Amino acid sequence: MKEIKIIENVILYTNDNIDTKIIDAIRFKMLNVMKFFQIDNISKKVIIRIWNDRNKFKDTVCKLEGYDDLPLWAIGNARNEKNEDICYIDKLSLAETKKIEYHKDATLTDFINSIVHEFVHICHTIFTGYNYPDKIWITEGIATYLSDQYPDCDLNVSKEELFGKKVVTYENYRFLYNYIFENYSYEEILSLLKSDETVVSKICDEFSNSKSI
Ligand SMILES: [Zn+2]
Repeated sequence: MKEIKIIENVILYTNDNIDTKIIDAIRFKMLNVMKFFQIDNISKKVIIRIWNDRNKFKDTVCKLEGYDDLPLWAIGNARNEKNEDICYIDKLSLAETKKIEYHKDATLTDFINSIVHEFVHICHTIFTGYNYPDKIWITEGIATYLSDQYPDCDLNVSKEELFGKKVVTYENYRFLYNYIFENYSYEEILSLLKSDETVVSKICDEFSNSKSI
C-alpha cells in the first residue's frame, strides 16, 4: 500500500495510483473545512484507507464500529472517538463505488468530495469537544454542504421526515443547508453545529414555516 501525506497527521493509504492533482484537491478542501471549524491543526493521526474490495471495506467498518451490517449505499465511514489515538476514514475506491447501482454514475469529483465529507465529521467532532450532535440532519447536512455534494439538490421528502431520526437521501440535507447558509450568520451556524437548542429550534421552526419552500 502506498502512503500519501495529505496534511500534517492526515495520511492516505491506497493501492491505486492517485494523481497529484487529486491529492491537491483533497488537501485544498480539507484545509477549508479546518478553517471553517477554526481548527489550526489536527492533533490526532487521521488514517484514510481506500478499499478496492467492498467486502473488506464492509468487514473493517463493521468491526471498527460494532455494526452487524452496512447498507449497500454506504461507501464511506469516519471514526473519531475521544479515548482513541487514531481517527479512521474508510472509503470505497471509485471503481468499487461505481459497481453499486445507486452510485453507478459516481465521478472523480464525487470520490474526492466523499472523502472530504468524512473529514468534515472528524473536524465537527473535534469542534464540539466530542459532544457530537445526535441529530442526523445537523451532522450529515454540514458534511454534505462543506464537501459540496449534491449541488443540484431538491427537497423530495416532507419537512417532518427531513428533521426526523431516520436518514433521508443526502440531497435533502444539502437543500436544507443551502437554506441555512443563505439565511443565518456564521456564528449562528456554529451554534447550530454545537447543538445550541435555541438556534436548533429557531432554524427548524423557520424552515418548516417558510412559505417559499
Ligand atoms: Zn456522513
